[in-house]
Amino acid sequence: MISQGRPVVSFSLPLLLSLFFALLTSGCAKNNTTRWASLPVAVYSDSSIVGTSASQADLQDAMNFWEQKAGRKLFEYKGVWNSKSLPYTGTASNPGTILENVIFFQNPWPSTSNIIGQTVVTSLDTEIQHAMIMINPYAEFCNGDCIGQDYANSARKNLAHELGHFLGLKHHTDANNVMYPILQSGGSMNGVGIDETALSELINP
Ligand SMILES: [Zn+2]
Repeated sequence: MISQGRPVVSFSLPLLLSLFFALLTSGCAKNNTTRWASLPVAVYSDSSIVGTSASQADLQDAMNFWEQKAGRKLFEYKGVWNSKSLPYTGTASNPGTILENVIFFQNPWPSTSNIIGQTVVTSLDTEIQHAMIMINPYAEFCNGDCIGQDYANSARKNLAHELGHFLGLKHHTDANNVMYPILQSGGSMNGVGIDETALSELINP
């Protein structure tokens, strides 16, 4: 979950996500970490997420951001998901089974308007089964470095943040960390940090 650069943080998360965070925040020991059994993991997006070359580049940059930090391939982008069929059962605010790992604009938006992205992860014991990233279709996004577009939210940073949840990361209290829950202005990833220890626990056997 990430909110716009305003001092408002909402915790109106779906139950699945709340449980996921509860599990992650229960401790820092490796055996409490919920993570994918194997990487890279298959991920799709809806056609609007990659609708222009600029938005396509943002998704690629967001995946590259994590892969460069990890020093290995984490995501296997499988192309456009058939938007006519939902990637989950149930409703967006109370999803049941996640059918595939898809990044998509979710309409109607299940959360408050200041939340621009939300990731739902389903897990069994400590193993992530599926994850989906919902993007707020009403939020205003800018592409690339977002120069002179301070009124809009960086699509690239938003995707990088949600991909962090997708990998199993929780929020971080440092505003320079990509997992800080309030989106910082600008679209450049220069100087945007991660918790390397936390990432290492998620990606190494
Ligand atoms: Zn978040």
